[in-house]
Amino acid sequence: MTETASPAVARSVSAGIAWARGRAADLTRDLVAAHGEAVDIAAPWTGEQLHTLTLATVQDVDAAETAARAAQVAWAATSPAHRRGILFRAHDLVVAQRGEIVDLLQLETGKARGTAFEELFAAAATLRHIAVTASGVLAPKRRPGVIPGVMSVRVDQVPKGLVSVITPWNFPLSLTALDVIPALAAGNAVLQKIDDQTSLSVLAYRRALVDAGLPAALWQLVVGPGDPVGNAVVDAGDHVAFTGSTATGARIAERVAPRLKSVSLELGGKNPMIVLDDVDPHVAARQAVAACFSSSGQLCVSIERIYVHEDIAAEVLVEFAEATSRVLLGSGLDYTVDVGSLTSQAQLDRITEHVRDAVEKGAIVVAGGRARADLGPLFYEPTILAGVTPDMESFAGETFGPVVAVHVVRSVEEAINAANDSEYGLNASVLSGSVARAAAVARRLDAGSVNINEGYRATFGALGAPQGGMKRSGLGRRNGPEGLLRYAQSRTIAAPSPLVPLPDSGRSAAKLEPVLTAALHILKVLRLP
Ligand code: NAD
Repeated sequence: MTETASPAVARSVSAGIAWARGRAADLTRDLVAAHGEAVDIAAPWTGEQLHTLTLATVQDVDAAETAARAAQVAWAATSPAHRRGILFRAHDLVVAQRGEIVDLLQLETGKARGTAFEELFAAAATLRHIAVTASGVLAPKRRPGVIPGVMSVRVDQVPKGLVSVITPWNFPLSLTALDVIPALAAGNAVLQKIDDQTSLSVLAYRRALVDAGLPAALWQLVVGPGDPVGNAVVDAGDHVAFTGSTATGARIAERVAPRLKSVSLELGGKNPMIVLDDVDPHVAARQAVAACFSSSGQLCVSIERIYVHEDIAAEVLVEFAEATSRVLLGSGLDYTVDVGSLTSQAQLDRITEHVRDAVEKGAIVVAGGRARADLGPLFYEPTILAGVTPDMESFAGETFGPVVAVHVVRSVEEAINAANDSEYGLNASVLSGSVARAAAVARRLDAGSVNINEGYRATFGALGAPQGGMKRSGLGRRNGPEGLLRYAQSRTIAAPSPLVPLPDSGRSAAKLEPVLTAALHILKVLRLP
């Protein structure tokens, strides 16, 4: 297979934007035929127009639902081997086209190439992981009957039908892969609403799946506002998989409830990092930079609160400030910059407001703290704040940007209590010279994932382990067997042995009573399930 050389790498950003316009004209033809208004999508790095997108209407969503449901019937009858073959072929296409897909991702999100490649890696790895694991997780399984040998019991996993997927703009490609690929592998059709800002990378990924043999009608993509297009997508699904803010997630759960359909929600966080007193401050600073500022902090699992032990707090803060000031902020379709820009004006406004509010109420800016219009319209410096107090918006509220508050604590107990004192419970991190010591702290944190000596990548990359939030950070889990099984419903099929007739009258029940009573004793002694 020939590698597709990245067309835009080593070219200027403006040449990349011109190239992406051409790709957009081709790729957006794969969206559901749309009859809504046209919106201009800007490139975050420069503010220039990237392409124009026609939004869907409710009628367009209805048509997409009908087409997807029709395609699902034949798809559900395909063999696991057939589906596996498509996923493996798509994997190879995505890897071969990585340059182009990463370019598109950078141009529409504004993120640095390193983080964009992380997304591409996750999207390709998901294809392989699901191809390898799906048939085992979803295969019919024998289960014990009421008395072993007397019943034969089998559990099938049946597709739910149509899965509605709603994904945000911040990690459009990897979040699409993590929610859509298992849904398809489990025999479902997918109706997905992607964010307007970041449709191109998802369209390029879907194109690879269709080129690999996935029926095009099986995975329908629409763009449009939450109301009415998002609502129509939610109303269509037999399961709704949503990634976005806690406020929207709660509204979606409420909307789905009367139809008695299932939902999985991946929501916001205010993720803490605990720095124990046995850490090398230099290492802690490097970990903190990656954990807080990757993708400009526009990452659900990004760290926004650091609790550092007082014995090493001063040293850690100095090292962290120095490492942060060395972060190279900028745009470029190669690996020369460390951190890119924010993705939208709404993001810049909220981050600016969180920092302004904190400073006005007495917080100290240890590093960063300002927008960088000299680099482009949406750049904001990686920012460290100290002295953040509960009256400030950024103390408990998710900033979703490159802003972290450092708090000094006197003990591990104080750090654990402070970390858990949040309505959120998505991700957490513990830094320690001793993995065993960090693990003991990790087991006491109310978070769906805890990373030791890492910010988020250790758990986020673990495709075989469940990922999701406790408390108001989510419902259900993606990844691992849980991530596949949420898209299936179990059907139990059981048949009694003809050799052991079940009682059908009072007399036969009376005869069986001593036998069944003895069976209860024996099963317990033998510890049989
Ligand atoms: P958001 O909730 O405003 O929007 C997310 C998506 O939902 C958008 O595409 C939007 O158009 C759509 N939407 C809005 N209203 C809808 C409705 N009524 N019905 C259906 N769809 C609707 O979130 P955002 O600000 O765009 O994204 C950032 C948030 O997402 C942050 O809170 C972040 O923590 C969270 N997030 C969570 C995860 C995770 O895995 N837990 C991952 C990424 C982002």
